[in-house]
Amino acid sequence: MTDKTGIVYLIGAGPGDPGLLTIKAKECIETADVVVYDYLASPFLLEYARKDAQIIYVGKKGGDHTLTQDKINQLLVDKAKQGFDVARLKGGDPFVFGRGGEEAQMLLSHGVAYEVVPGVTSAIAAPAYAGIPVTHRDHTSFVSFITGHEDPTKKDSSMQWDVYAKSNATLVFLMGVKNLENIVKNLVKHGKPSDTPVALVRWGTTARQQTVTGTLETIVERVTLAKLKSPAIIVIGHVVSLRQELAWFDKKPLFGKQIVVTRARAQASDLVSKLSKLGARCIEIPTILIAPPEDIAPLKKSIKNITDYDWLIFTSVNGVKFFFDTLFDMGKDVRVLGHLKFACIGPVTKERLKEYGIISDILPDTYRAESVIDAFSMVEIKNKKVLLPRAKIARTILPEELTKMGACVDEVTAYETQLYTGAKDELISLLENNEIDAVTFTSSSTVSNFMSQLESKDAEKLLKNVVTVSIGPITSETARSLGIEPDIEAEAYTIQGLVDSLLTYYESRP
Ligand code: SAH
Repeated sequence: MTDKTGIVYLIGAGPGDPGLLTIKAKECIETADVVVYDYLASPFLLEYARKDAQIIYVGKKGGDHTLTQDKINQLLVDKAKQGFDVARLKGGDPFVFGRGGEEAQMLLSHGVAYEVVPGVTSAIAAPAYAGIPVTHRDHTSFVSFITGHEDPTKKDSSMQWDVYAKSNATLVFLMGVKNLENIVKNLVKHGKPSDTPVALVRWGTTARQQTVTGTLETIVERVTLAKLKSPAIIVIGHVVSLRQELAWFDKKPLFGKQIVVTRARAQASDLVSKLSKLGARCIEIPTILIAPPEDIAPLKKSIKNITDYDWLIFTSVNGVKFFFDTLFDMGKDVRVLGHLKFACIGPVTKERLKEYGIISDILPDTYRAESVIDAFSMVEIKNKKVLLPRAKIARTILPEELTKMGACVDEVTAYETQLYTGAKDELISLLENNEIDAVTFTSSSTVSNFMSQLESKDAEKLLKNVVTVSIGPITSETARSLGIEPDIEAEAYTIQGLVDSLLTYYESRP
């Protein structure tokens, strides 16, 4: 408890694509003590929250209310009165059928300060991602946002069917999937031509987006056939016909593909963001956790004695990260490394090192220890002292070869990978239900950890219709030894290379 009363931000979290969050909304989430969200707000946004923030899910999926609106209101008041700043995330825009107005009135009546952060509403964004502009000079000059929630047979209905039917506005219904048949009937009954184009867009702006089009005459049957459910936007009007020409999102090369990303969570974002940009839906199943070594003493000792070394070699991004984390923890900075020469395996490791202000002297062309050896044959390494901070379990070829070349190599553990099985059940159920199109393997350990998650299940059967993608020959070798023949092996042994190979694969199989 503090003396101060917190503030509540009523935030529009956008329609689903995490990129459609406003900068102001992001700032509010980053600083909030408490984040309250419901099912339409993308869970990705929670990653912006402070580690120590309290995260509260208040649900609201159709009728299934995890907390009633009254309880949500009470929660916001209570948290603010306890002195916490609250980020209340609401799908789309908080004031477009979001009950944001009611929440604001209620906060006001309790003397709690609030601010509204408008968001990108699904009423405009879902049609936009389906290639439907809600206004267009050649078709209509106005648009109506209408609730589809109200029972159209209700006696004292506020629905003005005759107005909607006669106007040439684009009609955008929210919360209307269950009432579609009634909406269509009422519009036709009041004179709207039955050949008026209609589209339903479900989970608009996300990789799960699904669009069904038709006319007032055909749409009910088509939606039933497609089994399209809530949440969806219903768009009615001539602008819908522009989709034929303007559809762009669902034309992305990996649109509709569900891809498992097995990289360690901390590293997954690069691969996930690349695949998502191409339209894929990524299911992150972290199989490894990357952690500091159980015994950090050897790494600390080598940093303490850093002046004894001539070379520092990094074989991975993690090696770089954990080496510098430890260096800084010890109260030192990069100046203690000024006398050293550096080598990095792989362009990504080199880039990571550069973030610390250091340019690698040697960069082997591929991500394999063998090519490091080639690269080192160019420099005088004999009798030189080499420090190699690396994973706890790592291949021995590099130190062995350098030793043969006359170097004196100290290997120290900078980090270790641990098996993570928290997502095991989710993974098995997705595979059993044929919901996965592809699985990506970005290192040998991701393959073996993935396989160990399947336990005694018949892996061959589970992966029968799944495209398996390996980042390079060593990872493929591990996969084969565990009974998986990768369908694709990346040509360049990098994340980008993996993504490119996957694209080529799907392009050749439209
Ligand atoms: N304030 C929200 C609307 C809340 S009402 C906004 O501005 O978007 C809930 C309705 O919004 C759902 O029933 C559905 O009609 C619509 N909706 C929300 N997100 C959607 C999405 N990603 N795709 C399609 N419809 C969506």
